[in-house]
Amino acid sequence: MAKTKNAQDGLEADVVIVGGGHAGCTMAAILAANGVSVICIDQDDPAATLKHAFDGRTTAISFGSRRVIGDAGAWDDLEDDACPIRDIRITESGSPTLLKFLTEEVRSPALGWIVENRLLRLSLYKRLAALPKARHIAPAKVGGFEQYQDCVSVLLEDGRTARGQIVIGADGRASFTRQSMEIETRGWSYKQRAIVCVVTHENPHENVAIEDFRSAGPFAILPMMDDEEGRHRSSVVWTEHGTERESALHWDEEVFNIALNERFPDFYGHVRLSGKRFSYPLTLIHAHDYIGDRMALVADAAHGIHPIAGQGLNLGLRDIAVLSRLLIDAKKRGQDLGAPELLQEYKRQRMLDNMTMAGATDSLNKLFSNDIGPVRMLRTLGLSMVQQIPPARRFFMKQAMGIGGLSGLKK
Ligand SMILES: Cc1cc2nc3c(=O)[nH]c(=O)nc-3n(C[C@H](O)[C@H](O)[C@H](O)COP(=O)(O)OP(=O)(O)OC[C@H]3O[C@@H](n4cnc5c(N)ncnc54)[C@H](O)[C@@H]3O)c2cc1C
Repeated sequence: MAKTKNAQDGLEADVVIVGGGHAGCTMAAILAANGVSVICIDQDDPAATLKHAFDGRTTAISFGSRRVIGDAGAWDDLEDDACPIRDIRITESGSPTLLKFLTEEVRSPALGWIVENRLLRLSLYKRLAALPKARHIAPAKVGGFEQYQDCVSVLLEDGRTARGQIVIGADGRASFTRQSMEIETRGWSYKQRAIVCVVTHENPHENVAIEDFRSAGPFAILPMMDDEEGRHRSSVVWTEHGTERESALHWDEEVFNIALNERFPDFYGHVRLSGKRFSYPLTLIHAHDYIGDRMALVADAAHGIHPIAGQGLNLGLRDIAVLSRLLIDAKKRGQDLGAPELLQEYKRQRMLDNMTMAGATDSLNKLFSNDIGPVRMLRTLGLSMVQQIPPARRFFMKQAMGIGGLSGLKK
């Protein structure tokens, strides 16, 4: 049975968010900017997360996600570093372009933007520090929860307690919050890993993003802004399978550079690795439920998908758009932010979209990481058909941009 409110003094806010990755910080900033007080707790030291060595990834931000980051007040600071994508090309093992999407076909300045993860984090941290209704506590690890009738206490391992009407779990794929809520998950390993790195190249990338489907998995080239010395840069997501020992992560740098030059189209000129290579195991995970008593899961804590379509965070930001709107409206009306009806409404609005995208990326990966002759023929035919049919092409473009009918965002 739920206890009554703990009299012990602690940190108090309307909402407590566990996990201050991109998802948790974005949500905290949106809530705090709209009159909802929030505490966002993360176990990592912010100074460490801003170093290049922490996370070499970039994220493809869809048009819809840019709007959510804008609502958090973190886009303006990022804009100059966000590289617009104006042309997306789909190829197969270095083939000529099979499918092409161009900005001119949609009324938008770009099909999406590539941002460096650490710069997105920096912008969000700055924003949280400037919002009087936000409190960012990091590093601090959450180690438990206590349920009360009208609130939840979040127990920090350093002995502090943070209390809110509702707790949001934004603590990633291995979510401690999800485990504490005793919510089961479904999922599997793709037995693939993504090697991520930044490269410099002789010629400008012309804002082209390329996804080259290979039997080991997709090889993506994503345009970045030039560095301070004016060097042209792109980010690479190189999917591979096989043993860790054979991984391209450990190849001699010269061998790796030769392989990069073989995989990059000629128009980039000479290509070289710049900095460290990072490796991420690829898995699918989906929580059976997103909600519990005064608790909800968002983003990777609720669903982690294959990065084949660059949609993981974009999907999480759609959760955040929906749940933030429900919480802000409830606060304005003076209602309980942890009310079961509010939580049910969040789940109703988000589960189908997330399951659809998880299924779609899983099927895409199966379809394209397959070298069986007839399958290869069929997918080449399918891609050519989509290329020939403008409404079909526009449909796929809108999904990728996060403004399609399935996206869950208001247009
Ligand atoms: C190779 C690769 C490429 C990708 N590319 C794209 C892309 O182009 N576009 C896209 O949209 N998505 C992409 N993604 C997916 C995207 O990176 C994730 O969806 C996103 O990082 C999830 O953010 P999050 O905040 O939910 O989780 P996380 O980034 O995992 O953050 C969770 C946070 O919670 C903290 N935490 C965990 N437990 C506790 C605890 N007990 N107490 C306190 N804090 C805790 C962690 O330290 C962490 O800071 C890619 C993923 C990979 C692997």
